[in-house]
Parts: sequence; structure tokens; C-alpha cells
Amino acid sequence: MRASSPPIVAIVGAGFGGLRAAQTLSGAPVDVVVIDQNNYHTFQPLLYQVATAALPPTEIAQPVRAILRRHSNVTYRMASVTGVDLQRRRLLLSTGEQAYDYLILAAGSQTNYFGMPSLAEHSFGLKGMGDAILLRNHILQQFELAMQTSDPDECQRLLSFVIVGGGPTGVECAGALAELVDFVLVKDYPWLAETDVCIYLLEAMPALLPGLDPRLQQAAADMLDRRHVHVRCRASVTGYDGGAVTLKDGETLPANTLIWAAGVRAVDLMAALGVPQARGGRVPVAPTLQVPGHPEAFIVGDAAYLEDHGRPLPMVAPVALQQGQLAARNVLRLVAGQPLQPFVYHDPGTLATIGRNAAVAQLGRFKFRGFLAWVLWLGVHIVQLIGFRNRLVVLINWAWEYFFSERGARLIVNDDTFNRLARAPDSAERARAA
Ligand SMILES: Cc1cc2nc3c(=O)[nH]c(=O)nc-3n(C[C@H](O)[C@H](O)[C@H](O)COP(=O)(O)OP(=O)(O)OC[C@H]3O[C@@H](n4cnc5c(N)ncnc54)[C@H](O)[C@@H]3O)c2cc1C
Repeated sequence: MRASSPPIVAIVGAGFGGLRAAQTLSGAPVDVVVIDQNNYHTFQPLLYQVATAALPPTEIAQPVRAILRRHSNVTYRMASVTGVDLQRRRLLLSTGEQAYDYLILAAGSQTNYFGMPSLAEHSFGLKGMGDAILLRNHILQQFELAMQTSDPDECQRLLSFVIVGGGPTGVECAGALAELVDFVLVKDYPWLAETDVCIYLLEAMPALLPGLDPRLQQAAADMLDRRHVHVRCRASVTGYDGGAVTLKDGETLPANTLIWAAGVRAVDLMAALGVPQARGGRVPVAPTLQVPGHPEAFIVGDAAYLEDHGRPLPMVAPVALQQGQLAARNVLRLVAGQPLQPFVYHDPGTLATIGRNAAVAQLGRFKFRGFLAWVLWLGVHIVQLIGFRNRLVVLINWAWEYFFSERGARLIVNDDTFNRLARAPDSAERARAA
């Protein structure tokens, strides 16, 4: 470590974990450098709202520099981290190198296709802003194409949407897509009946929203059913050729759209660390969040593997936020020569919305469904969005949609350059993942 200047803390990732770590280190006697490949922070829990034209992309993202500019000891470098040299304490970047004294890795996760190349190639993931915009373009385009075909089979394929994964992302995406059709698109396309559109939500487990109280699981399934979503549990997808989905039992579902919300795995960068990996590519860390054998390096959020009462911590935002804060505090304890603290997870509960006035919420032993859960969901998401302007505009957008059943963001931004750019990082990622 250099004698005179403050130690350098490098943070990889300006997602939930990385930003919380940087904010915790604000004003501390360290120089912080945050590195992210994107110059914006994405509020991933609302990506499906961009994909279903409920919100424009700018409302769920915020420039990293705007978030960090108040913190004078924190700087930002836009770069892709391609490697980590734990021995030499250096990050290899697309733009050069970054030395560090302490490291907090918060690089998150990527879509997990569980080794099924056909899904990686043809389905739509929902992990980043590029995915969400691409999906929005595609969904809206299916309706334009359906309007112009006289072939009934083609029309059915165009208007069939299969969402795979019955966790909160899949449930929310299915509900939002159904509302887009029921409240907005039926007005845009006068020939279209709600029942012309087939939305399937497939889940391999026996119930939606695994881990929630069975009554809430059933309530969510009932709410989706009322919105004409075909919920199929115990349905495993084994392949997709872009026109038909194949299930494990041999059944095929014709559909031009498959949205893959069935799982994520730690980003590939974790494999480059050269340390053991657990299931889903996550890296096992000590309770203090340190990488075993490298006390100066911490991993937080989706990329870290740590158990709580014998079960892996979930890959959710509260874990990343709480770990980001603890890792930053533990860095400062190391700097001060104090003992480190272990991670203790405080679970704030689970919320999932199906649409207007419809949601389920499990907060400890309290369980809500319907309107109350929906209001809770609205409140929690508005509070968590970064930036006052974003909160206000999102609130206005939602109110507008609620009262006038309109979605202004239903633009097909579909020129070739955009598609190439939107798809490029993901296709490389997809090819590797498959
Ligand atoms: C569609 C969707 C819906 C979700 N809904 C919910 C929800 O309702 N509630 C909930 O609690 N959680 C939800 N999650 C999960 C939650 O978003 C994640 O658990 C959380 O974002 C993890 O935080 P993180 O800091 O580990 O990673 P992230 O927030 O993903 O941040 C990782 C950052 O690292 C950057 N990065 C990655 N690799 C590199 C690299 N090589 N070089 C430079 N930068 C890099 C990325 O650009 C990104 O900014 C959802 C996730 C998705 C995808």
C-alpha cells in the first residue's frame, strides 16, 4: 500500500451492491473508484415495465456520474472489467488497468439458459436495458405483423407469448403484458379481442412464486387467470426454435415470442478470479464477504455465494444493498485495524404485482393480496427508485396509465443500428452461457 495517499478502493459494478458500497465510503479516508461498463444504474425490478411499454427506459435508469457527483472521494470509470489479478491487486479493463488496495466486486449476474443453446439463441432475456428495449420493439411489432397477415396459423404464432419462469419477474411480466393487451392494444387494434392473444406463463415447479405462502401463490395464479394468462405449472421447457416452444412432455406451443425469466447465474467475470465457484457460478465468500485467501477482496450481491440458516441467500436487491454496505464498512475496519463484522441478512419480504389493484406481498408473518398489496408494491418501488425526478415521473406515468389506460412508451425503435447495439453484448454473453 502506498505510504502517503489514501488507500484505493476499487468497486466493480454500479448496480445495487456497488453503489451502496460507494455511498457508504463517501467521506471516508479512502479514494474510491467505481467501474461499470454502462454509464447508468438500472433499476432492474422495473425492466419488465420498459419491455411492456409502461415506462420509458430513462425512468428506471440514472447516470452513474449524477448519482456519485456529490461524493468528493468517489470517481467513476466507464470500462468493462475483463480480468482480476488478485495477486498483483490489479483490475484488467477494456481501457487499461486499475490498481487497488481493496476491492469490492459487485458485478451481478447474467441470464442463465441452463446449457440450452436454442433458448439462448431465440428467446428474449430480461437482464439489462438493451434486453428490455429489444423486447418492447419485438412485442409491439408482433401486433403490427399480425394485422397484416391473412394466414391464421401465422397470426396465432405472432400473438402467442410464452413467459418462462414463475418467480416475481415472470409473474410481473405476464401481468403487465396482459394489461398492455387488455387496456391499451385492444383500443389500438379495433379487430383485436383480448382472447386472440395467448399469454402463457410456464413454471417447472408445482406452484408460482416459490417460497411464498401457498395461499398467496394461489391468489397470484387466480389474478393472472382473470387477466387471461394461461398459467402452467410443472411445465419444463426443453427447446425453442423461434416459432415453437418444446416442453419436456413433448408438447409444443406455437409462439413467435419466448421471454426467458427462469434464472440467472453470476457474471462470467467470476470465473476469471481463479477461485472455486458454487452453483450458478457464484463465488463462496467468508461471512465477512471476503474472498478466501484474499482478505482485501470482497464480493457482494448476486455474484457472491453465502448461506443463511443452511440455504443460499437469494439473488435479490436487498441482499446486494445490505452486503454492499457491510463490505464497505469492513474495508474501513481493515483500514483502521479493527475486527470485521459478519453478514446478517434482514429479509424485508417479497412483493409481486400482477397489475392494477392486484399484487401479493409477504412481509415476515404479514401477508397481503389485492389492492393493499398493490399499494404497498407501488410505495416500495417509488421509494427505492434513485433520483427525485425519476420518482416523480414514474408516479405520473403510473397515474396516467391507471386513470386513462394509456401507455405512451409503446414506440418501436427498430432501426438496424439500434438492434445491433442492443443485441451485441447479450449475444456474446448468450453464446458463452449456452
Ligand atoms: C428483470 C429483473 C427483475 C428483478 N426484480 C427484483 C425484485 O422485484 N426485487 C428484488 O429484490 N430483486 C429483483 N431482481 C434482482 C436484483 O435486480 C438483483 O439481485 C440485483 O440487481 C443484484 O445487485 P448486484 O449489485 O449484485 O448486481 P447488479 O445490480 O446487476 O449490478 C451489476 C453491475 O455490474 C456491472 N458489470 C457487470 N459485469 C461487468 C464488467 N465485466 N465490467 C464492468 N461492469 C460490469 C453491470 O453493468 C451492472 O451495472 C430482479 C432482477 C431482474 C433482472
